[in-house]
Amino acid sequence: MADPAHIRDDFPILDREVDGEPLVYLDNAATTQTPTQVYDVFREYYEEYNANIHRGIHGLSHEASVAYEEAHERIAEFVGASGGLEEIVFTKNATEAVNIVAYGMGMQEFGPGDNVVVTEMEHHASLVTWQQVARRTGAEIRYVRVDEEGHLDMEHAAELIDDDTRMLSVAHVSNVLGTVNPVAELADLAHDHGALVFLDGAQSVPNRPVDVDDLDVDFLAFSGHKMCGPTGIGALYGKRHLLEEMEPYLYGGEMIRKVTFEESTWEDLPWKFEAGTPPIAEGIALAAAADYLDGIGMEAVAAHENELAQYAMDRLAERDDVAVYGVPRGEERSGLVAFNVDGVHGHDLSSVLNDHGIAVRAGDHCTQPLHDRLDVPGSVRASFYVYNTEREVDALIDALEGARERRD
Ligand code: PLP
Repeated sequence: MADPAHIRDDFPILDREVDGEPLVYLDNAATTQTPTQVYDVFREYYEEYNANIHRGIHGLSHEASVAYEEAHERIAEFVGASGGLEEIVFTKNATEAVNIVAYGMGMQEFGPGDNVVVTEMEHHASLVTWQQVARRTGAEIRYVRVDEEGHLDMEHAAELIDDDTRMLSVAHVSNVLGTVNPVAELADLAHDHGALVFLDGAQSVPNRPVDVDDLDVDFLAFSGHKMCGPTGIGALYGKRHLLEEMEPYLYGGEMIRKVTFEESTWEDLPWKFEAGTPPIAEGIALAAAADYLDGIGMEAVAAHENELAQYAMDRLAERDDVAVYGVPRGEERSGLVAFNVDGVHGHDLSSVLNDHGIAVRAGDHCTQPLHDRLDVPGSVRASFYVYNTEREVDALIDALEGARERRD
C-alpha cells in the first residue's frame, strides 16, 4: 500500500499554511504536487547540462540529447508501448496530444459519411477538438450516453459505432464521475468496425497501471502535471504505423530531415511531431515522475485512491444535504468525488473550504455537456493523490458544516 505518512516527506509544499490554516490539497485531478525527486532532476538539468538538443556536437548538447531521448524511452516503458521512443511524442499537455491527431489525421482524412464517436463524459480537451474535426470535415459526431450511475451505456456504444466510424475517443477515467471505463471492451468494439481508438489517459496514467499494448488502443494522451511532473509537458502515444502515416501538426525546425526551396521532408519518429526547441527539462523531469510513481507502484497508487474515494463517499453519505455524482458507493472509483451541497453555490462552498486551508475545484471541470446531462450547472470536486490521508477527508467533511451558513 502507498504510505502517505512517508510519501508526504517528499512534498515540502504540503507543510505550508494557507491563511494560517494547514494546507489540505484536494485538487489533484487538476494538478498534482511535485516531489523533490522530480524537481531535483529539473534543477540538475539547469545546473549541469542545459543545452539545446540534436543541434550541437558539444558535450552539453550531447548529454541533454541523450537524456531527452532516454526520457521518451522511459515514458514508453511506463505506458507499455513496446515500440519504444518512436511511439512517444512529447507535447505541451494532453490537449495538445489530441490536437496532433485531430489535425494530423482527422482534419486530413475524415469527411462526409464518416463519424467520430465520443462519450458524454469527455473533457472539453477531446470533445471540443473532435467537434471541430466534425464541423470542418463534414463528418458526424456521435455521443455515447452516460447512465444515472455514471457508467457508459455500452449498448448505446454498440449502436453508435458502425463501419463508418473512423475514431472512438474515450476517457479512460472520468474527471467528474470517477468512472473507470471498460477500455479493452470498447477497443474491441471499435476495431471490429475498423475504427481507431483514442484514449484520453489524463486521469488514468497518473493513477493506475496503463498498458497501451494490453488495452490495444491506437493513441493515448496524458499530462505530466497530473502525475507529479512539471507543467508544460505531456505525451502522445501512437501506434508506430499510424504516426508514420500522419501529417505533422506543427512545422519548422527540428522536425525536418531535408529542406530545399522546393520542398521539405520530415524527420523520423517521434521528432517529426516535435517542431522547434522542445520542453527538454520538462521531458527529462517527466521521466523522473514516472520513476517516482513506479517506486510507489501504480497498483498501490490506484488502491490508495480508491480507498480514499470510498471513505469520502461514506463520509459524504452521512449528510442528507449532499448530492454525489458518478459511480455508486462500493464500486471501484478513481480518487475523486464530485458533489453539491443543497442550496450552496459551488464557488461559495469552495471559498468556505479555502478558509479552512482546503483546496478543491468548483465549476464544470471542463465538462459542460456532462453537467448539462447531470442537470446541474457545476459541482465541487475533491480529488486525492498518493499523499492524501483520511484525516484530510475528515477535514473536508468538518468544513462542510460551515457551508450551511452560506445557504441561500
Ligand atoms: N482529459 C481529462 C479527462 C482531464 O481531466 C484533463 C484535465 O483536467 C484533460 C484531458 C486536459 O489536460 P490538460 O489541460 O493538461 O491538457
